[in-house]
Amino acid sequence: MKYLLKNKKNIIWLIFFVIIIVIFTSCQQQNDENIDLSKLPQENRTTFAMNTLIKMKAYGENAEEVVDKSFARLNEIEDEMSKTVKSSDIYKINQNPQQFIKVDNDTFTVIKKALEYAELTDGKFDPTIGSLVDLWGIGTEKARVPSEEEIIKTKKLVNYQWVRLDKNEKSVKILKPGMKLDLGAIAKGYAADEVRNIIQGYNIDSAYISLGGNVSVVGNKPDGSNWNVGIQDPRLNKAGAMASIGVKNKTIVTSGNYERYFKENGNIYHHIINPISGYPARSDVIGVTIVTLDSFDADALSTSVFILGLTEGMELIENTEGVEGIIINKDLELFLSSGIKDKVQILDSEFEINKSKF
Ligand code: AMP
Ligand code: MG
Repeated sequence: MKYLLKNKKNIIWLIFFVIIIVIFTSCQQQNDENIDLSKLPQENRTTFAMNTLIKMKAYGENAEEVVDKSFARLNEIEDEMSKTVKSSDIYKINQNPQQFIKVDNDTFTVIKKALEYAELTDGKFDPTIGSLVDLWGIGTEKARVPSEEEIIKTKKLVNYQWVRLDKNEKSVKILKPGMKLDLGAIAKGYAADEVRNIIQGYNIDSAYISLGGNVSVVGNKPDGSNWNVGIQDPRLNKAGAMASIGVKNKTIVTSGNYERYFKENGNIYHHIINPISGYPARSDVIGVTIVTLDSFDADALSTSVFILGLTEGMELIENTEGVEGIIINKDLELFLSSGIKDKVQILDSEFEINKSKF
């Protein structure tokens, strides 16, 4: 009985201590939440690289260093994969057909992934699109509508099956003279993931990087809320966001005909080319946004879905694990994949969510 009583006393003390500890730790947590994160050191910078405007924001002790490192990494990736920089891997491959060219790990990884998406889309996404892209010159001063003959001839230089990879040597060969690799549809996604990895290596909890239509957010906003990422109005000559999506730790990648195009005789010619027709991809789709974890896949997917069009494109989104998407058509209807139906907010009443299909 004495033992029991003593034991009872001990139990009461134990409960008392547990209560004290719980109260103490909950106060600690409360205090952590009350820290004014907006007073943290922060870096907010823009630059131009990879043919697009880059914006980056980072919050935390090493914010400045993280942005320096990230921008340096973007320049490095551009120097490896640009079609026009003469020392780049891609330039060397394109200038030396039928020869294995040793490339950097980055370039090898991106070409390999691009070929996987080419396979997946039956060649609608094709990183050997380079000669057609050059022929049209969209986004350059040389932009023009080529003749039918030129298109037929140049189309014959596009085929992802004519690329050989040597994984031991990390080298790449194109089989036909005149064919050209172009990683414009996927390199920015790879770069965004590389920047995210740099950010995470520094234990920065809150950051944002935007490479043109390619946005990645790390963590929450410093105040603890979700990042609200705007989706650009896909109509030609319209600036600003027509919808927004609240996210944390995600990438939001958009492809649209409005990004680069020219007009001739009332027709719009934009920069995403259908390798089968040799002309800019035509469908009712004017914008595609992919929401997922990795920008590398999201970039390849947004371009792929744009070319595939609404039905096949949404099917690809729904069948890819962890991937959500928004497809916008010419009638300004938004089609949302099943996982983001309640996450998109329309900001411009001319657009509406179409709930009837999918
Ligand atoms: P994005 O803005 O990511 O959709 O990529 C568009 C860019 O990808 C273009 O400016 C071209 O450099 C390249 N591109 C165009 N058509 C294709 C295609 N069918 N497959 C792969 N890349 C393409
Ligand atoms: Mg893309």
